[in-house]
Amino acid sequence: MSAKRIDGKAAALTIRQRVAELVSQFADKTGRPPGLATVLVGEDPASAVYVRSKNRATAEAGMASFAHNLPDTISEDELLQLVVGLNADDHVDGILVQLPLPKQINATRVIETIDPGKDVDGFHPVNAGRLATGLPALVPCTPLGCLYLLKTELGDLAGLDAVVIGRSNIVGKPMTQLLIGESATVTIAHSRTRDLPAVVRRADIVVAAVGRPEMVRGDWIKPGATVIDVGINRLPTDDGKGRLVGDVAFDEAAEVAAAITPVPGGVGPMTIAMLMRNTLVAAHRRAGLEDPEGL
Ligand code: NAP
Repeated sequence: MSAKRIDGKAAALTIRQRVAELVSQFADKTGRPPGLATVLVGEDPASAVYVRSKNRATAEAGMASFAHNLPDTISEDELLQLVVGLNADDHVDGILVQLPLPKQINATRVIETIDPGKDVDGFHPVNAGRLATGLPALVPCTPLGCLYLLKTELGDLAGLDAVVIGRSNIVGKPMTQLLIGESATVTIAHSRTRDLPAVVRRADIVVAAVGRPEMVRGDWIKPGATVIDVGINRLPTDDGKGRLVGDVAFDEAAEVAAAITPVPGGVGPMTIAMLMRNTLVAAHRRAGLEDPEGL
């Protein structure tokens, strides 16, 4: 391996410590800590693990955590009423509804009901539109974490060729907007892209957000490129526990790239750190304060 391994765990810790400092300053100014409400519907084990770790991180940052765990039989109306109540609750600065939702519930309707000022996942169309038009927005946590790692690694991204593989609303599209905002030259690739290896070979920056284990091979990577692997895929193992891999064949790509994020320990921890950051930012904006510095 010649590439530098980008340590997302360490970067996430730095952000979470800075958030915790700023949380106590916010509480001194306003008389209350920022608050994050999480909404978990049903008992999907992966979702339950994600939400628990988000609640733990919230408490560790000194913020108030409001956990709403609902049965998967809940109706859409009941869920919408909960969201409306959270919108009106002054102690709640951020609302996170864990996806996916059960099939009787229209996730778009739920997202559109969240107050855009409390939409710490950044999925509301108002926030997506604000990001796309260069206005201050709440930006989805995973691409925000990827951008933080890229800027820490590379500094100025202006003029660099970036390829984002994946066009989801959660990762690929906002990642593209963020890179355009940094004046990178961005190509967004997806399942209909022709000759993906050739497209990726042009890139100084590769962000892979596909959900296909080790799809991006070492010989797709331009020598010296920086590779951010968003994918989280579990491969079966003999002991039944499974093994997590990304969308990039790590060992091969690390022979060619200048720097690469591992899976796990790369983008994953950054997502939660950025959720804490977004909750703090939402609290500042709601309180009429300037955005916190240094995040
Ligand atoms: P998604 O909504 O399923 O989107 C996947 C994208 O990949 C789609 O745009 C799809 O193209 C594209 N794609 C599929 N097969 C392809 C192929 N053969 N060649 C090129 N593009 C292809 O997934 P997502 O929510 O963005 O998540 C992507 C991955 O990131 C998943 O592994 C997920 O678990 C992971 N993830 C990680 C974090 C984290 O915190 N680290 C957060 C979110 C997601 P089409 O649009 O043409 O179908």
